[in-house]
Amino acid sequence: MIYDIAIIGAGSMGLSAGYYLSKAGKTVALIDADNPPHTEGSHHGETRIIRHAYGEGDVYVPLALRSQKLWYGLEEASNRNIFHKTGVLNIGPESSQFLQNVIQSIEKYNLQAEILSAHEINNRWTGYQLPNHLKGVYEINSGVLMSEIALQTYRDLATSLGASFYTNARIQRLDVTNQHVMIQLSSNTIKAKQLIITAGKGTNQILSLLGYELPLFPIRKTFSWFEAAESIYHSNYFPAWSFADGNETYYGFPSIDKAGIKVGRHDGGQPVKANETLRTFGTYPEDEQDVSRFVHRYMSPELQHKQGKVCTYTNTPDGDFIIDRLPNYQHILVACGFSGHGFKFSSGVGELLSQLAIQGETTLDISHFSLNRFA
Ligand SMILES: Cc1cc2nc3c(=O)[nH]c(=O)nc-3n(C[C@H](O)[C@H](O)[C@H](O)COP(=O)(O)OP(=O)(O)OC[C@H]3O[C@@H](n4cnc5c(N)ncnc54)[C@H](O)[C@@H]3O)c2cc1C
Repeated sequence: MIYDIAIIGAGSMGLSAGYYLSKAGKTVALIDADNPPHTEGSHHGETRIIRHAYGEGDVYVPLALRSQKLWYGLEEASNRNIFHKTGVLNIGPESSQFLQNVIQSIEKYNLQAEILSAHEINNRWTGYQLPNHLKGVYEINSGVLMSEIALQTYRDLATSLGASFYTNARIQRLDVTNQHVMIQLSSNTIKAKQLIITAGKGTNQILSLLGYELPLFPIRKTFSWFEAAESIYHSNYFPAWSFADGNETYYGFPSIDKAGIKVGRHDGGQPVKANETLRTFGTYPEDEQDVSRFVHRYMSPELQHKQGKVCTYTNTPDGDFIIDRLPNYQHILVACGFSGHGFKFSSGVGELLSQLAIQGETTLDISHFSLNRFA
């Protein structure tokens, strides 16, 4: 059999692309080194924030809004709860670039949001104790995505639409002609007309089979849960948040299903190799110290650390994504380098990849993510 499209890396982006392609009637083979959703990539830890007003730049807003619509669509198609509309509070000094970008996004795209002083925030949500120099922009329509449920849902729906899965697979060779791509696994050869590479931190392992290497830098990241009073921190009334003050950036989640609040530090982390097993949580003192210092200073000194986990960001030099065709291979697409802020867009990126594969063009402008910026 010759598949219309093979996808290497069936994680956040690959599974979403596989779903949209299968839904469009294409035959799809999804190949993964693991058995997604799993804990070895970038998508575990239960939850991810979706923000619409974008601190990293308003170029992301149309994709965030489209992705939000698609998340609602996925909930409808599956009858599963994937999105919690908790709102997101973006916190920082008014002068910070992040907050300025958030405000610019709100004005440009007419997003529903409130600008609040530290005093107003502390009064409205008693789980914060922010000092006076900070402000917050509270986005009402954004919130929290259940990342592992979302991936399992894409997988279930794609399977029911006829997609084939090759999991725990080792790719030994890629042979490319003008018409086809042949993917040699240990016990199978998969032939497809087009190939999408969405292998997260493993993307360069695959690209090396074609003689390419992209500027991708896997970083070990940690995140933690803290015991938290449900009467204050429950997701029905406490928002998700992002926090940028000076060089320190943090993010966090309200308590969902009595899990406690979840907090992570966005900047920093240890560089790792793509195939390296991550050192367990607690290997470095800062794993627990950073987030504990943050919650005790800005939330409550009472909050007790519960548990922590490790995960990987795959960073690009500029923090922007890569979504493009591979030079010299018009039938190979690559989407990678999601730099610790990609999950919210995975519904939209999957749709964009399916449009690129089927129509050869996309409904949203993706020139910001092109490979030629590294040329
Ligand atoms: C701690 C943490 C917190 C985050 N918080 C947020 C957030 O709040 N909001 C947000 O929007 N984003 C967030 N992100 C970022 C987001 O989760 C990632 O950008 C996104 O999951 C990346 O998707 P991906 O498809 O590139 O990678 P993955 O989901 O990891 O998928 C890649 C897949 O490729 C497979 N693979 C790898 N190598 C190979 C190989 N050689 N052969 C075959 N398959 C291979 C893997 O097994 C995996 O299944 C966070 C990330 C982390 C780690």
